Parts: sequence; structure tokens; C-alpha cells
Amino acid sequence: MQMRNEFLPFSRPSIGEDAIESVAESIRSGWVAMGPKVVQFEKSISEYVGSKYAISMNSATAGLHSSVMAMGIGQGDEVITTPMTFASTVNAIILAGARPVLVDIDRHSLNIDVNRIEEAVTSRTKAIIPVHFAGLPCDMDAIEEIAVRHNLMIIEDAAHALGASYKGSKTGSDKGKGHVTVFSFHPTKNITTAEGGIVCTEDEDIAEYLSVFRQNGMSKGAWNRYSSSGNTHYDVPMPGLKYQMSDIQAAIGLSQIKQLESFNRRRREICATYEKELSGCPGIAFQQHAGYEHVHSRHIFPILVDTDSLAIDRDTFMLQMKERNIGTAIHYNAIHLFSGYAEAIGNKRGDFPEAEYVSDRILSIPLFPAMTDDDVAYCIGAIREICKLYAK
Ligand SMILES: *Cc1c(COP(=O)(O)O)cnc(C)c1O
Repeated sequence: MQMRNEFLPFSRPSIGEDAIESVAESIRSGWVAMGPKVVQFEKSISEYVGSKYAISMNSATAGLHSSVMAMGIGQGDEVITTPMTFASTVNAIILAGARPVLVDIDRHSLNIDVNRIEEAVTSRTKAIIPVHFAGLPCDMDAIEEIAVRHNLMIIEDAAHALGASYKGSKTGSDKGKGHVTVFSFHPTKNITTAEGGIVCTEDEDIAEYLSVFRQNGMSKGAWNRYSSSGNTHYDVPMPGLKYQMSDIQAAIGLSQIKQLESFNRRRREICATYEKELSGCPGIAFQQHAGYEHVHSRHIFPILVDTDSLAIDRDTFMLQMKERNIGTAIHYNAIHLFSGYAEAIGNKRGDFPEAEYVSDRILSIPLFPAMTDDDVAYCIGAIREICKLYAK
């Protein structure tokens, strides 16, 4: 195989000239913090997903933390989530004072195993945070049923899932059930604002809480106070944090949202090629498609290194890719295996065999809209070559 000269990263954002122009315009105008562009961006997201409210944040982490707080979850409460997620999901629970209760995943979908959720419910359980892994929507009807039966709230960690849909309804759309759904605009996600996130909900009280909480608990934002028609007085009805988005970020987001559908189309096209060309490759397994109707938003393309048929482990596989000038990443090491959660979560290796199986074998290969067909073919060639070289 001919070695490529230029390193191919596992992800790279596509940011248009119009975004650069719009950022420059915000800077020249002097209005760089939260202002008119944030309002416009929130409107475009709520229209896109079909939610009544969309409250932007400076990250999805801030959105998750604020949502847990908005639901009144704290000391003595438990929140069910998956071990196959980013630190941010459990951090939001722990820093609100509650305890994350992990439920093992299904190794084929990589999502939380809905058949195991109910046995983890106790009298202290307040909410479930499903994560739509890689953009594959969880089986929300099954989760909803459990939530209704036990009076639990649902916060969807949809950091991977902007543009996904479940049984005909977009992830984040109003479902008449008071869910909140959190999206991320980190540079590796389906669209970016450099850093940023948003919480979608139809619940007016939660929306109101979030918009006050994200501004240090101030009842009115700077935009309202300093504009010509604004009122300079404000109250602080509760303590909050500094979590709001800036107009500079929203300027990027307004350009990105216009490209979301074409970005996701290209992501799906690349993934279809990967699946087609690598399905016969011994040593590699993929995330399986779910049986229910859904649209996968394809935030990342994870593969599992089958250590039974290959003589190398995941880390060596990643090194082999790097030697061929291809970047990869780990999404994720199972959360309970990190040193910092021993006390807060209280699990150890052996507790979640499915998540641990995946955690030891998973890696994400390059996937981003600007990848060329040649880039995709190069990755496929490299993976085939590695599998052949190290076949047992
Ligand atoms: C990226 C990510 C987050 C955090 O998003 P930020 O915007 O970086 O805070 C949360 N959960 C999951 C599953 C993620 O992938």
C-alpha cells in the first residue's frame, strides 16, 4: 500500500467562509457576548429539531449539569446512565450531588441495555440519562415505559445525535413527556460552535430555570439590561453558574446549521462505504443497526478489534493506523474504569462485562464531511492490510 504523506485526522470540522465573516461582523459590532445571534441560533435549532424551547449553553457539559439541577436532582438521589459515555455525563450527576448508577450496554448497539434498566431502579432513582451512542438512537419507547412506571425524568444525552430520529420523530423534538435533550457543538460533533451546547425541551418551567441558571441566576440577561429598551435592574432568584453561549459562537453555529443535512448525508455515505467494504474483513466488528425505525446521525464510526481472530490488541491496532498516517480515537474507555470514579460510582472491573468487552476493543476511525473518497479508500486499505498482517 502506498503510504499517504499527509496525516488524516479522525475528525475535522468544516467551517465556511460565511461563518468567518459572521464572526468578524460580531467582533466589529462590539457585541461579542450573548446577544442577537444567540437568540437567532436558538430559534434555528428549535425549528430544526421541533422543540418548543432551545436554551443554548457554552457546552453540552453545562447543558447536562444545568438539566440535572433543573430537575431538582441532588444529595441522596440516583440517576441511571451508561458506562459507555464521556466523563461529562457522570460528572453532571456527581457535581449536582447525586450518584450515577450504571447499567451495562448491549455490545451490538453500544447503547444502554434497556432490558437491564428496571432492575437498577430504586426508591432513590430520579432520572435516566440515555446516550445515543455514535448517533444511534436508544430504544426510547422502552425507556419511556420504565420512566412512566417509576415516575422518572429523562435527560437524553444527544451529544452525538443532532439529525438523528427515532420512529419518525427527530431526537430533541417535543414528545409531550417533558424530556430534555442535550446536544453538543464541540468541534468533533455533527456541527460546531467551537465550544457549545443546547438543551431542547417543551417544559416551560425547565426552560425558565435553564435560562436563569446559565446566567449566574440573574433574572434578566445582559442583552435585556444594556440594550436601549432594557431594564437595568435585575434580581437573582437563585444561585446559578456562568454557562451561556456567546454571539461569536452562535455566529459559527448559524452557518453550521445550514450545512447540517449535507454534513450528515456525507457522514452516512462514508459509513455505508466503510460497512460495505469492511464487512468481509475478519478481525473487525461494527455497531449493529437497531431493529426499530430510526435515522442514525453518524457522529463517529467505531470499530471493534476482534482479539480472538487478530494477534494484536486495540492499542497496537491504533499504532498500526498511526504508522500509516491515520488518526484514530477511543470512544470510550468504560467510565467506571477511570480512577476518579472509584468512590463516586463505586464499581470495579468485572461489574459491566459488556461495556468492558467493548471498552477493550473499540476505536473510532476517521469520519468527517470533508473526507474525500480517496481518504475513505485509504482507510479501508489500511484496515484490510492490518487485519491480513495480524490474522491469527
Ligand atoms: C462530547 C460529549 C459530551 C460533552 O459535550 P461538550 O460540548 O464537549 O461539553 C457529553 N456527552 C457525550 C456522550 C459526548 O460525546
